[in-house]
Amino acid sequence: MSRSEELFRQAVELIPGGVNSPVRAYGNVHEIPRFIASADGPYISDVDGNTYVDFIGSWGPMILGNNDKRILNSVAEAAGKGLSFGAATEAEVEMAKLVCDLVPSIEMVRMVNSGTEAVMSAIRVARGFTGRNKIVKFMGCYHGHSDAMLVKAGSGVMTAGIPDSAGVPAGCTQDTLSAEYNNLDSVQELFDRYTEEIAAVIVEPVGANMGVVLPEKGFLEGLRAICDKYGSLLIFDEVITGFRLSIQGAQGYFGVQPDLTTFGKIIGAGMPVGAYGGRKEIMKLVSPVGKVYQAGTLSGNPVAMAAGLTQLKILRDTPDFYENLNANGDWFYTEMDQILTDHQIPHCLNHIGSLGCVFFTEETVRDYVSAKTSDTVVYAKYFKYLLNHGVYMAPSQFEAMFLSGAHTRERELKKTLEVIDACCSEL
Ligand code: PLP
Repeated sequence: MSRSEELFRQAVELIPGGVNSPVRAYGNVHEIPRFIASADGPYISDVDGNTYVDFIGSWGPMILGNNDKRILNSVAEAAGKGLSFGAATEAEVEMAKLVCDLVPSIEMVRMVNSGTEAVMSAIRVARGFTGRNKIVKFMGCYHGHSDAMLVKAGSGVMTAGIPDSAGVPAGCTQDTLSAEYNNLDSVQELFDRYTEEIAAVIVEPVGANMGVVLPEKGFLEGLRAICDKYGSLLIFDEVITGFRLSIQGAQGYFGVQPDLTTFGKIIGAGMPVGAYGGRKEIMKLVSPVGKVYQAGTLSGNPVAMAAGLTQLKILRDTPDFYENLNANGDWFYTEMDQILTDHQIPHCLNHIGSLGCVFFTEETVRDYVSAKTSDTVVYAKYFKYLLNHGVYMAPSQFEAMFLSGAHTRERELKKTLEVIDACCSEL
């Protein structure tokens, strides 16, 4: 029995499902999760000594690759001065200034500890600012596990959201309205019905939690226009896209400015961090100045700030970082698409820059319903083959692949394409 299997057997008795976050359980692909011992650059290694090319990158934050020495040094230095003070620090001011300088729509920002917290808080602020309660979200978009956001499909656009999880009272989701991604008419219908009740529209500017689903031309612009017309706020959840698609995130990439933005893990470079921010007139509502309460003992943690500051400064100061990363993504996903086509495997490969995902379907995937047509049995076979041949992908069809600046075409990407080519004969 492998050490991973031994650990998993112990873990399931001690931790629900044996894991501290559901997707790690490999439930969708019926495999034993690999217990990870270490990671370096584009590689990750398990407790049995297997090394894989890592396309998860801790679900996004490791954009420079794993174990970047510059970040580790800044963490060691900060940790040497104290792990937490529960008080204001210089690093927090520096972080806030950096985020505000880099992202034009943000004039004020508040640090929190996760993407979930960032979204939960941004929604509270949007409600406080507008004096309205309803929130529009999109089917297939994930915004963390706060009660109000645990509505996946709702029950069609004309009814209030129905909780997607046991333990969430219907009262918590009754103001969450579901619309269809890439369908402005479905949003307009909600505004026709709830004209002056909608506080905000929250969207992943690139859907990355139903696999990768790109916004069609005009979709984000259309959301901006609808929000402006009805006096609602537009919230971009950039937990995945922030500082990944460009130094200004998806809003810079697509040229559409939200009112509020949420960020997550990438700001902490692997440490637990989240943040939300926007225009001053909105953010001034947050406590202790304003009437919207939000707090956190460990928020702005000095070690997390040190890691994040180092990462963001490297991203800002490395010439052509995003051009190179996105060009590698374009090259890699185009090659992958060609291999699947050559093997006549029905598929739809969606990608943008370093984010990508293959769906095993004949349909063009542009929303939650089309994403769901993917053959997850084929995905599971594909995943297992890759895992057993040294390539570590998301253990679920409905997640993204993440390339980092450490993946090179000549080595890791080429090797991965060879494995995918061989895998196709087995699908
Ligand atoms: N929003 C988006 C778009 C996400 O992808 C995630 C998590 O991956 C979250 C929010 C929640 O972030 P966290 O897991 O840090 O709470």
